[in-house]
Amino acid sequence: MSDNYDVAVIGSGPGGYVCAIRAAQLGLSVVCIDKRGSHGGTCLNVGCIPSKALLHASELFIEKNKFSSMGIETDNVSLNLETMMKYKDDGVQGNVKGIDFLFKKNKIENFYGEAKIISPNKLAIKSNDGEDKEIECKNIVIATGSVSSSLPGIEISGEKIISSTEALSLNAVPNKLVVVGGGYIGLELGSVWSRLGSDVSVIEYLDRITPGMDSEISANLEKILTKQGLKFSLNSEVTTIDENNSGAVVTIKNRENSDEQNIEADIVLVSTGRKPYIENLFGDGVNLDLTETGFIKTDTHLRTSLDGVWAIGDVVEGPMLAHKAEEEGIAVAELIAGKPGHVNYDIIPSVIYTSPEVASVGMTEEQLKENSIKYSVGKFPFLANGRAKVNNTTEGFVKILSSSETDQILGVHIIGDQAGNMIGEASVAMEFEATSEDLARICHAHPTLSEAIKEAALSVDGRALHM
Ligand code: FAD
Repeated sequence: MSDNYDVAVIGSGPGGYVCAIRAAQLGLSVVCIDKRGSHGGTCLNVGCIPSKALLHASELFIEKNKFSSMGIETDNVSLNLETMMKYKDDGVQGNVKGIDFLFKKNKIENFYGEAKIISPNKLAIKSNDGEDKEIECKNIVIATGSVSSSLPGIEISGEKIISSTEALSLNAVPNKLVVVGGGYIGLELGSVWSRLGSDVSVIEYLDRITPGMDSEISANLEKILTKQGLKFSLNSEVTTIDENNSGAVVTIKNRENSDEQNIEADIVLVSTGRKPYIENLFGDGVNLDLTETGFIKTDTHLRTSLDGVWAIGDVVEGPMLAHKAEEEGIAVAELIAGKPGHVNYDIIPSVIYTSPEVASVGMTEEQLKENSIKYSVGKFPFLANGRAKVNNTTEGFVKILSSSETDQILGVHIIGDQAGNMIGEASVAMEFEATSEDLARICHAHPTLSEAIKEAALSVDGRALHM
């Protein structure tokens, strides 16, 4: 192993490993260090991938209730949680091995250990196998990600009060699960355990779930999830959570009338957000500017306040999403190689993998109003889409927001089956600055759910055909 590199990447999550690959593609010598003992960061190990494995498996499990109407008799379908967890773990391992292969293929040196920045060109590494060393590098990329945060005064014990990490590996289905926080992680994991048999209550501080999403979509999602059995307490502040031998008692206060209520739970999942992770990262005398909320401060090119030190992903501001981290990783590698790396922060799609899925890109109606931008709305329900009808997936709709002056598409919001895959079309259209008229004139295959996007685009101008 060399001890002098063009680029040293700290963290092998989606930001770090993608940055390492792109830098290597560009002919730079690269080392990537991760202390986890497994590549892929939060996303592959305790985030996107295991949660989607459980969402997929639990959705198939609950789908059994619909089979008989299609003439499929499924007697004796039952849950083997241990095997479901193994299926999830195998999926994680498959993905982690994929990164090991890509590192080898791209001749990226990598090892497991904790990296500390002791100067802009030097890292001290406390190796997981006990062999400590220092390496020199022309550039350092900080991709150390984030960890779950909690509420003031509430400690995540990992026993009855847990974070998303433990919620991905429970060894029994809790009878009663309380989820604190109605964001995407709480709703996805709440859905998993509800489908497997838990009675799930979601407590949300604000007056709506999925803050930041288009409010019409968020109201629709709440209705659908309520129909699926999830219970919601909105406008509710969690004041205490008392853990006991059998579970925990959650005390909530209604923010409108101050009424207090105790809710008993076997397990409480605290999913109130994540915070940037920079513990033990800086050696004595190394000071990097941080934002007020603890993120690493960067300029528009992801340079930190120290020359030659860059930062990407969850540890810098912006949506805490794997694909945002990846784009930043690519941009930084290209900038280091003297190329014009760039991230278009206006067009970062986000998806909630509930059933149905919710996907959006661009501005919400609320943001357009706040910014006094005049807009037109086109909407089309999946109830009027032939494929959705025959698939029994008629919940939800597509909503397109376009400028009422130029017709340029400003935002697309979809709630419906496969919304996550369909949002790609909207992202492409928006990257190419398409108008709703452009989208409306594109021939979409029949019968597909994506025809609802074309119809929503037609509907901007009052021309939807199947409604
Ligand atoms: P991370 O993935 O957090 O990786 C950082 C790595 O750095 C870690 O492996 C850590 O061990 C290592 N590290 C930290 N400090 C050091 C150090 N000093 N030395 C060496 N190594 C260090 N996003 C999506 O886009 N889609 C989803 O569906 C999705 N689902 C999620 C579900 C859950 C339950 C969770 C928790 C998150 C989910 N996310 C999802 C968010 C996504 O996981 C993160 O946005 C993404 O992982 C951030 O990537 P990153 O590279 O910035 O950091």
